[in-house]
Amino acid sequence: MASIFSRIVAGEIPSYKIAEDEEFFAFLDINPVAKGHTLVIPKKEIDYIFDIEDPLLGRMMAFAKRVARAQEEVIPCKRVGLAVMGLEVPHAHIHLIPIQKESDMYFGGSKMVTSQEELAEIAAKIREAFK
Ligand code: AMP
Repeated sequence: MASIFSRIVAGEIPSYKIAEDEEFFAFLDINPVAKGHTLVIPKKEIDYIFDIEDPLLGRMMAFAKRVARAQEEVIPCKRVGLAVMGLEVPHAHIHLIPIQKESDMYFGGSKMVTSQEELAEIAAKIREAFK
């Protein structure tokens, strides 16, 4: 069965899309830990990020970098933090999180409450800044 993220890529499940190319797709995390929290995935369904072959993993990181540059332009932050866990969704993904401080990357606490309108607005801004 296709992963929930493959179903997002296929357009079967809606997402707040940021960017895509032939190999990768970026969209807002639906339960952000910080404003602008974005996920970058390979379209090819691979569960564990370290099972991705080196060239594809390299291109994925380069794609994530372009997303991070767009986030930096739009969301006031000191840095864009990067995390990989994959304990919930078995489809490799990189979390890109605009942060002001270390604790902004805390995944164990309560998530931000963000309206659909605000998520759509944030996604549109990052999407526009993506080069
Ligand atoms: P993990 O697999 O532990 O890295 O976490 C999976 C992440 O995917 C969590 O931060 C979820 O909020 C996020 N997530 C799960 N389903 C969706 C979805 N349909 N759209 C966007 N983000 C999602």
